[in-house]
Amino acid sequence: MEYRVAQLEALGRFLDEKKQDILEATALDMGKPPFEAEFSEILLCKNELNEMLNNLSHWMKDEHVDKNLTVVQRRTPDAVGVLQVTRLDSVFIRKDPYGVVLIIAPWNYPVHLLLVPLIGAIAAGNCVIIKPSEVTKNTERFVAEVLPGYLDKDCFAVVTAGVQETTRLLENKFDYIFYTGSPSVGRIVMAAAAKHLTPATLELGGKNPCYVSDTCDVQNVARRVAWGRFFNTGQTCVAPDYVLCSAEMREKLLPALREAITDFYGPNPRESPDFGRIVGDKQFQRLLMLLRSGRVVIGGQTDEEERYIAPTVLVDLQPSDPIMQEEIFGPILPIIIVANMDEAIDFINSHERPLVVYAFSSNDKVVNQVLERTSSGGFCGNDTLMHVTLTSLPFGGIGNSGLGMYHGKFTFDTFTHHRGCLHRGMGREALNALRYPPYSQQKLGI
Ligand code: NAD
Repeated sequence: MEYRVAQLEALGRFLDEKKQDILEATALDMGKPPFEAEFSEILLCKNELNEMLNNLSHWMKDEHVDKNLTVVQRRTPDAVGVLQVTRLDSVFIRKDPYGVVLIIAPWNYPVHLLLVPLIGAIAAGNCVIIKPSEVTKNTERFVAEVLPGYLDKDCFAVVTAGVQETTRLLENKFDYIFYTGSPSVGRIVMAAAAKHLTPATLELGGKNPCYVSDTCDVQNVARRVAWGRFFNTGQTCVAPDYVLCSAEMREKLLPALREAITDFYGPNPRESPDFGRIVGDKQFQRLLMLLRSGRVVIGGQTDEEERYIAPTVLVDLQPSDPIMQEEIFGPILPIIIVANMDEAIDFINSHERPLVVYAFSSNDKVVNQVLERTSSGGFCGNDTLMHVTLTSLPFGGIGNSGLGMYHGKFTFDTFTHHRGCLHRGMGREALNALRYPPYSQQKLGI
C-alpha cells in the first residue's frame, strides 16, 4: 500500500511540477490550446489520481463475501440434508495485481490517455510498460525523458516505439494489455494478446451520432455540440461525429452553430489562441479528402503549411459519402437529414455500435427513447463529452468501439485479478464426511 501511494504521489508531483512542459509539448505537437491541455491532460488525470489515493486502502482490501450452504439435498419437503458447510470458513476476494501490464496510447490526448490507465495499473499493484504515441513527438520525448525520474525504474518503464517496434513489443508475453487507438489496430493488438491468452482492454473509436430533436433550445444545443466537436480541433474519440436532425431543425441549427463558432473562436478561428491544429500531415490529407463530401456551409478554409482546418459544417450528404464511412477525427461536422426520431434511431442502429450516443431534446421522453432503443459504450443527453469527466461512470466502448471499461474504481478493477478464495480451518472433519467416497444414495438422502 505505502509503495503504491508513494508512486501515485510521485505521479502527482510530475503533473504539478511539469505542467508547463506538458502544455508546451502538446502545443508544439498539435497547437493544443493551454486551457484545453490543462483541463484534459492535467486536471482529469489529477481527478483520477485523487480518486485512487482517497479509495485505495478500501479497494485493495480483501472483500469478504456471503457464505451459503453450498450443497444441499432436500430429503423430504421439510427436511434438508446439508452435504457441505462453508459457514465456518473464511471466504473472500483477494485483489491481486495481474503482473506486468503494457499500456499503448494514441496521440490525441497524449498525456491523459497514457497516465489515466497508468494510475489505475499502479494503484492495483502492477509493474507497467507505457508506450506513448510516436505521432506526438514532443510529448513522447518529454514523457520518456522526464517521467522515469519520478517513478521506481525497477517497476515502471517508458518505451518509445513506432509501428514496427510495437509489433515486436507485442510478441512478448504480458499479463495485461491496455490499448487505446483505432479499431483496425485494436484487432492487431487483440490477436497478439490472444497468442499468449493475455487479457486486454481495447479503448477504440468510431462515429458518434448526435440526434437533435425538433423541440430544444437551439442556441444551447449549438454551443454544446460545437464545443464537443471542435474541442481539441475535433480530435476526440467521444466527439459528436455527425448530427441527425429534421430539415426544419437544420435551418435553425445552422445560424446558431455559426454564432457559437464565432463566439468561441472569433471571426477568424485561425487567429484564435483557443483553436488548435491537425496533428500531422497524414491526418491533414485524410481530412482534406473527407472535406470533398457534401457542401460546406460554415468554415471550410484550410492551410496545409499550418495544418489548419477551420471549424466546418457540411450539409447535403449521402450516407455513402466517404465522410460517413469513417470516423472523422477532425473539426468537421456533417448534418444528415432524418424525418423524425424513429428514422434517426434506425440510422444509428444500422451502423457499428459507437463509443457514445448523444441526444438533444427538451422532452425527456425523446432522450430516453434514444437511450432505450440504441446501444453504445456510453450515453450523454443534452450535452457532449461531459460524461467522460466523471470518475464514477465506466468509460469504454462496445462492439467495434471497444472492449472493457475504466475510470475511477473501474480502472482499479480492470488491472486487478479478482481471486476467489476460501480458507478453512483444519478441524471439524466430521462435517466433511458426507462428501467423501464411498458414495451412496443414502448420503444424498435418496
Ligand atoms: P492508432 O491505432 O493509429 O495508434 C494507437 C497506438 O497504437 C499508437 O501508440 C501506435 O504507435 C500504435 N500502433 C499503430 N499501429 C500499430 C500496429 N500496426 N501494431 C501495433 N501498434 C500500433 O490510433 P491513433 O491514430 O493514435 O488514434 C486515433 C484513434 O484512437 C481513433 O480511432 C480514436 O477514436 C481512438 N481513440 C479512442 C479513445 C478511447 O478512449 N476509446 C481515445 C482516444 C482515441
